[in-house]
Amino acid sequence: MDDHGSPLRSRAERQRQEWRKKRLSIRLALIFTVVTGMSLLPLSGVHEAADSSHTEEEKERKNTEISLTKQDQKDVTKKESHTDEPEQIEVDTDPTSHTVLVNQSHPLPDGYVPPDLVFPDVPFPFSENLPKKQLRREAGEALEQLFAEAEKQGMMLYAQSGYRSYERQQELYAFKGNRAGGAANQVSARPGTSEHQTGLAMDVTCRAVGFKLNQSFAQTREGRWVAEHAHQYGFIIRYPKGKEEITGYTYEPWHLRYVGKKMASELKRKNLTLEEYYEGPAPEVDSGKK
Ligand SMILES: [Zn+2]
Repeated sequence: MDDHGSPLRSRAERQRQEWRKKRLSIRLALIFTVVTGMSLLPLSGVHEAADSSHTEEEKERKNTEISLTKQDQKDVTKKESHTDEPEQIEVDTDPTSHTVLVNQSHPLPDGYVPPDLVFPDVPFPFSENLPKKQLRREAGEALEQLFAEAEKQGMMLYAQSGYRSYERQQELYAFKGNRAGGAANQVSARPGTSEHQTGLAMDVTCRAVGFKLNQSFAQTREGRWVAEHAHQYGFIIRYPKGKEEITGYTYEPWHLRYVGKKMASELKRKNLTLEEYYEGPAPEVDSGKK
């Protein structure tokens, strides 16, 4: 029995011992869990707080990065638009502006009459007080100064034709259109498209060409002096030689257009027409000349 009882007892004893071990380890595990958990609680709290503040920082940093990226993109776009497209200046279509662009594509409003027309005190080759003697005040004063300086240099300039009303353009267009067989655009602007309606343009001439308006004026002393100095008084040769395709006009060394000293000087320096100034360079045309 002992042989039987002993192993039985010892088995029971082993089971009890194992059970005790298990209980101990469970208790230890529990204690460990509780102690560690408690010691971790405040830490985890801090950690969480730190973590959340870190997240805020992260968010802020990301936002900054995003806005920086957007700024970068803007800069890139700006740079690209700078390099890819020529600088575009908005076309001045205000009829009362001294720098207005008037041509076939940019006609004046129907019936436009300049607000401040005056009769400039300059010589004309005729004595009648015709409306075409008029210019807008600022342009008229500039013309007086231009003519006065030319006279000081021993030259006599004459004004031939300034302000031209819409109605007068209609008459001229009908007359020249019939005579030239429809090619009136070459010499006289379609009504509403003449710069003369702005009161900012004056055709000038001299005795050497019989007070006519023709290209030989460019070879006279007066013509050469005007081409060289008009910009100092705010005028440009509006339809220059070599720019016929751009302006739509044959060379008119006699047609002065007032744009103010600043713009006239810039256009002269850069050799630009008003069209090129506002609408960029014309597409390259191979003229065959080098
Ligand atoms: Zn003219």
